[in-house]
Amino acid sequence: MKYSQLRKILLLATIVLILSSCFHTVTFATTNRQQNKVKVAWITTDGFFTIDQNNNRSGYGYDYLDKIAEHTGWKYEFIICSFPEAMQKVAQGEIDLITPLAYKENREADFEYARYPLGAALNGIYICKAHEEHPNRANLALEDLVIGTTVDEIRKEGLDIFAKTVEEPLQIITYPTIEAAKEACLAHEIDAVVLSDFEKSEQFSVVKYLNLIPFYVATAKGNTKIIDGVNYGMQEIKLFDRFYEKNLYEKYNIFIADYAVIFTKKEQAYLASHPVLKVGVDIQKKPVEYLDADTGLPVGISVDLTKKIAEKCGIKFEFVHPKNLTNSIEMLNNGKLDILSGLIKDKDFASAYNFKQSESYLNSYYVFLGKEHKTNKELKGLTAAINVEHVGLPYHFQKKYPALNIVSYDNMENGLTAAKNGSVDFLIMNSLMANSVLNIYDAGELTVQEMRYSSFPVAFGVSTTASPELLSILNKSIAAITEGERNNIILNYTTGAANKLTFEEILRKYAALFIGLLFLFFGVLLSFSARNKKKLERLAFYDALTGERNLVKFKLDIVPLMRQKQQMYSIVALDINNFKAINDIYGYQHGDLVLLQLALALKKALHPGEIFCRGDGDNFYLLLRSKTREYEPKRFLAFTTKIDHFSFGDNTKCKIILKIGIYQLTDENVAQDNIETMIDRANIARKSIGHCHAHSYAIYDQTMYNNVNFEKTIENNMDTALAEEQFQVYLQPKVALATELVIGAEALVRWQHPTQGFIYPDDFIPLFEKNGFVTKLDFYMFEHVCALLERWQKEGRRLYPISVNFSRKHLLQTDTVERLRQILEGYQVNPRLIEIEITESSFTNLDRVQIASFMSQLHQIGFGISLDDFGSGYSSLSMLSEYDFDVLKLDRSFLEHKYSNEKTTILIGSIITLSQKLNILPISEGVETQEQVEFLQSVGCAMAQGYFFSKPLPLAEYEKVVKFL
Ligand code: C2E
Ligand code: CA
Ligand code: CA
Repeated sequence: MKYSQLRKILLLATIVLILSSCFHTVTFATTNRQQNKVKVAWITTDGFFTIDQNNNRSGYGYDYLDKIAEHTGWKYEFIICSFPEAMQKVAQGEIDLITPLAYKENREADFEYARYPLGAALNGIYICKAHEEHPNRANLALEDLVIGTTVDEIRKEGLDIFAKTVEEPLQIITYPTIEAAKEACLAHEIDAVVLSDFEKSEQFSVVKYLNLIPFYVATAKGNTKIIDGVNYGMQEIKLFDRFYEKNLYEKYNIFIADYAVIFTKKEQAYLASHPVLKVGVDIQKKPVEYLDADTGLPVGISVDLTKKIAEKCGIKFEFVHPKNLTNSIEMLNNGKLDILSGLIKDKDFASAYNFKQSESYLNSYYVFLGKEHKTNKELKGLTAAINVEHVGLPYHFQKKYPALNIVSYDNMENGLTAAKNGSVDFLIMNSLMANSVLNIYDAGELTVQEMRYSSFPVAFGVSTTASPELLSILNKSIAAITEGERNNIILNYTTGAANKLTFEEILRKYAALFIGLLFLFFGVLLSFSARNKKKLERLAFYDALTGERNLVKFKLDIVPLMRQKQQMYSIVALDINNFKAINDIYGYQHGDLVLLQLALALKKALHPGEIFCRGDGDNFYLLLRSKTREYEPKRFLAFTTKIDHFSFGDNTKCKIILKIGIYQLTDENVAQDNIETMIDRANIARKSIGHCHAHSYAIYDQTMYNNVNFEKTIENNMDTALAEEQFQVYLQPKVALATELVIGAEALVRWQHPTQGFIYPDDFIPLFEKNGFVTKLDFYMFEHVCALLERWQKEGRRLYPISVNFSRKHLLQTDTVERLRQILEGYQVNPRLIEIEITESSFTNLDRVQIASFMSQLHQIGFGISLDDFGSGYSSLSMLSEYDFDVLKLDRSFLEHKYSNEKTTILIGSIITLSQKLNILPISEGVETQEQVEFLQSVGCAMAQGYFFSKPLPLAEYEKVVKFL
């Protein structure tokens, strides 16, 4: 059941309750009010009765009782108890109130229930999120889940309802408490757990909703005084603040759960027999559905949402674009199409045109384009025109405005002319379309007019004869799309930045617009609730990780702060020198923790009138004020000694090294410089520090400006460097662990720069990745390796595979494989001697089909493919079965793990076993000690590479040192 439906039910329930209460008017006698102190059983429950560290109470139940007390004059004394304790003590009259208590007939003997429910809890089957990624999950059906529950009858009721809809008996394990069941689920002992939306937490996603249970406040049987008080209070609340409950639900985020899709067996069977679902789109509905001018393929908000559904649920869709709606429905009914997308959801419309509809997945907004004075409420006596291609739309408008006369126009120019010369009063079009019309065409006096009914839910349509599974599959998948994902797609199209920027980037970029114009202009955003608008504002101006200002907000806020005279200001840019290493070694989560702690430390160190923000990654910016210039370095010294080490709470500590660039402002600077310049200069000072091993700071001066920063030099030099062969191939041997003989090598690039000297790849590859130069470099390295192998062959040396690193960028280009083939043709080299290393993170966010085709083309030529840095990021084992790798390179972080223990052993051991079973050769990189060699031998790893055997060597040295047998 969806949130909106629930809301309706609650609202309806409220109205019914209000009506019925009129008949037995409760007047809460003043005598009752004199019983001032009321004892309440406090059963701590997240989101219902919560106490934080500072002893502040909150929660749905707490707020509601508090509100009741406003009307009764009660003062509560809360007594902490368990649920059974509370039941007993309330029944015996020791405590006055218990909540939340569900209604059960057998409880009537002991309890006096309030007349109105305090709220309703929604039970559902939840899985733990970490579990979602589990490889075994892929084929699991909903009815296969092992579900944890408690003896609680209400959970049982919900499960019973579900059990009736499936064929096999459910697998249920009963736990003494719901906490125990949750823990078992988090520990992966069971798949799922039955929770109410008050019990759920961030770690769980719902896969199926079960039953909605009203709950009450109750007191001991016969204690009418108290219960009259509750009834009176609740009635007053319902009369004077009709949305009180609804707002409380929103406040405590109660109905909103993340949804995960697990199909039932029937649904799975349906998908198996329909591997590709054909979706009919209406390409006349820009920006909802239309053809991309460049590719000729259907695109648009609705199409992207459908694709998102496909991606999340593993369904394959194929888009077809019939001529018009009549045509589409014909195709739907004769089985040429499975689904129609982008249809306005309307029962009558569906039955008139003979199809069934899913839940809605989008709202579409319409506006009038016409002359200002033309509209009236009912639109009586007015004529509207709709593009003739929009079959179906007149239907919806006629239904909402029966007195409106609707005609059609065949193209935009004609439509506009008709509206301008008054032969029609206005045109009806999608709000987003109206926006572009106003930009492109000469609209004269025509403006966008509001209308009363302007929003229509948009849904999928399926044939009336389609199997019910198709609809349930679609509905589940629609529920799985998060609000963020939906907004992201809508914003992509509405801000004209389709597919280029992420939601957050768009928000940042359009931050100023958002708060003013965008909200008002794009109908889509009008639907956001106040809470969501706040959320958007937060997203636009505050950093999600630290909760502190972002750079946009920082830039806005420092101007007024700096206007105060008699102060000296500095802009400071600061980052963590070894942040990448921290991420690599400890993982991103720990990296995040470091950022959080740094933000906290900075916040504490600031004086009044100073602010800071987090920019990208580990970049922080500060506005500082001081009386003297000498004072600043001292302040940093004091600051940095405090934050040498951050601990992670699990006995690990990590050292951080800060690089601090200071730009000291003079009065003229404050008056003249723009903020970008100030920030740039602080950054130049920071970057002037280069690599350092202790906290370092630098104060900006003019000479730095002339010393163009490192990146720029590199960027200006890279093409020359390639032409002049400044890039050199270094080789690092790979060794068979059984024999310790060399059986391969990896080619690693080094840059011998004429002025900068020897540069390691970590200092330029990331930049090359950014500016795209990396692909040229990779082809260069590839060619050198081809030449090398050819020479070795001619010299009669023993040959073994050499691997070359390939950037993710190649996966995005269509001509990579062709280029490799061309280069290869120039040399007499067996392609089997070349292995392409692609790092694990390259595969995230890429189209699977694209990856698979890239890999099979490489294989066709004969190259081997190695999955580099496996385990360094968020790798999933399923990648191994999904794609055809020849070699698996375990990232060196596995061995570096400070807490290398039993778990690591088991982990590496099982990865190796798995790779062997899948016929993938495992190799461990970064081997530095004898101990590690022995460990790897013990877990059966075949190959290794690392400083223990040899560092990467220049070619000449490699040929000398490494024996060629
Ligand atoms: P990678 O592919 O993971 O390469 C292994 C890196 O680990 C190399 O660093 C190597 O010198 C280092 N290493 C090897 N054995 C040990 C050891 O026992 N202990 C430690 N601590 N390190 C060890 P390098 O050469 O600095 O390369 C860094 C990264 O730059 C490479 O990581 C690779 O991602 C990238 N890279 C290097 N050459 C190329 C290239 O030609 N093309 C592309 N696209 N990337 C390259
Ligand atoms: Ca590599
Ligand atoms: Ca590697």
